[in-house]
Amino acid sequence: MSSYSAKRTIIGHVEKGTDLYDSITRIAQQNNIMLGRVTGLGAVQKAKLAYYDQKEMKYKDFELNEPMEIVCMYGNISVKDGRPFVHAHVALSDGKGNARGGHLLPGGSPVFACEITIEEFEGPELVRGFDERTGLALWPKEKVL
Ligand code: ZN
Repeated sequence: MSSYSAKRTIIGHVEKGTDLYDSITRIAQQNNIMLGRVTGLGAVQKAKLAYYDQKEMKYKDFELNEPMEIVCMYGNISVKDGRPFVHAHVALSDGKGNARGGHLLPGGSPVFACEITIEEFEGPELVRGFDERTGLALWPKEKVL
């Protein structure tokens, strides 16, 4: 029988001034986490995000150049090109409580303070593959294990 089950949990804060996405990737790679869930909250000094244009099938980057709360960060870790790959989205809010968000990019999002939890799963490898209809590197079609 094969199914996914909880393995290790890594919990703590991301150091001030380090990049949010790159820090998660570093933790995943250093600990060889091939499958996991990432959640977090806190604040960034600014942010670099992307929006996936479904017509053009490409990411459009944008920057939010102000300190913002991380209302919610949710992401996953799986395998892409043989290595741990982080896919994370964030909802951020400004000083008026207005929310913006998107797909978190590497670089450009220095942390002010962030508490993260990475839950590692044990089970069959989940490998991203190119999906022609979306232009994205997606997980395989869902299945029950
Ligand atoms: Zn995304």
